[in-house]
Amino acid sequence: MSRDLARDRITIGLSDEPWPRSGDRGADETRAQLFAEILTAGPLSRTQLSQRTGLSQSTVTKVVNPLIEAGYVTEAGEHSGGLGRPQRLLEVAADRYAAIGVKIGPGAVTGVLTDLRAQVLERSTRQLSAGHDPSAALSAAAAVVGSLLAGNGSGTRERLIGVGVGLGGHIEAATGRVVHSGVLGWDEVEVGAPLRAATELPTVVDNDVDALAVAERWFGKGRDIDTFALVTVGPGIGCGLFLNGGLFTGTSGLAGELGHIPVRREGTVCSCGNRGCLETVASDSAVLRHIADAGGARFRDIAEAVEAARAGDEAAVSAFAAMGEELGRALATLCNLVNPRRIVLAGERADAFDLFGPACEKSWREHAFSSAAQECELTVDVTDDFLWARGAACLVIRDAVSGRPG
Ligand SMILES: [Zn+2]
Repeated sequence: MSRDLARDRITIGLSDEPWPRSGDRGADETRAQLFAEILTAGPLSRTQLSQRTGLSQSTVTKVVNPLIEAGYVTEAGEHSGGLGRPQRLLEVAADRYAAIGVKIGPGAVTGVLTDLRAQVLERSTRQLSAGHDPSAALSAAAAVVGSLLAGNGSGTRERLIGVGVGLGGHIEAATGRVVHSGVLGWDEVEVGAPLRAATELPTVVDNDVDALAVAERWFGKGRDIDTFALVTVGPGIGCGLFLNGGLFTGTSGLAGELGHIPVRREGTVCSCGNRGCLETVASDSAVLRHIADAGGARFRDIAEAVEAARAGDEAAVSAFAAMGEELGRALATLCNLVNPRRIVLAGERADAFDLFGPACEKSWREHAFSSAAQECELTVDVTDDFLWARGAACLVIRDAVSGRPG
């Protein structure tokens, strides 16, 4: 494993002994491509690898055999699907390395330690007091990392490829800096450098929704699809886009800000400072405001409103239906723009899909252009804080496997 803390480059065996970079960029990329394919789609036979990547069987064998000899890939079972004799199946030795993912939210810092296949091995959470400043959140994040390492026994630090941090808002991934986060109330906050200093571990920072989209693409509901959108609903509304097989982040990481598309000319002021964004009519706070405006009960939080709606409270039922209707129109806009094969609906409020889903699907189908909605499948993935943290761990895994700078 090589760690260049100064440049925060995270790479694993693919570029390290016993395979130092060959100097042949094409060969290194082929090895990374095959390793990623085995990691995310394995176990696979050599023939299946060849079919999936378009590489010849002899190239696959030439690249994969050294990976097996050095223990990064193992042979497991046999595949006898086609003609000819059965072939051994290949899979990544997932426990050879570990990754940490940390989600910094407004009320808590949540972390997970995972293996290379993003399977969760340890969990840790630190609550944040109301009105905390960024330094308190970063100290909590460092404490979460420390507790994850301590909880998994000796040798974990040596196997760790790095720490991924996910936060809501405009994140400058290259520098690990939060430019603006409405949900945290942060502007211009360095996250990567102080965490790196506190933990002495390579650290990458990115938008939490983009991180979750990477997790869905590599290990979740976007695994088999090149063009899909992840839409998160809850305190905010986010969107991660995988277009033609790649995460689309735009010029400065601002692509997919679905929550801030304008939907009202004269609307409520949004956390971003503009008026009438989608978040002002379809986020958790919008639902609570809708209920209050209709003269309904004053709920302490969104969980109470969900419970009341399920119990038949009229104001709550109609607030979730209104939220679903707005969200559906936004999904139609999304379909019209990028024509995804699948939309994965996730985030904290995905668990209330029974309340807003019917209105959402109806308005989505009504407003999508031509066959854009028929060609798109809507899937719900209920998300807790640990799933967000797992997404952040996937940032590290992706960077390590691809050998790209974190
Ligand atoms: Zn906004």
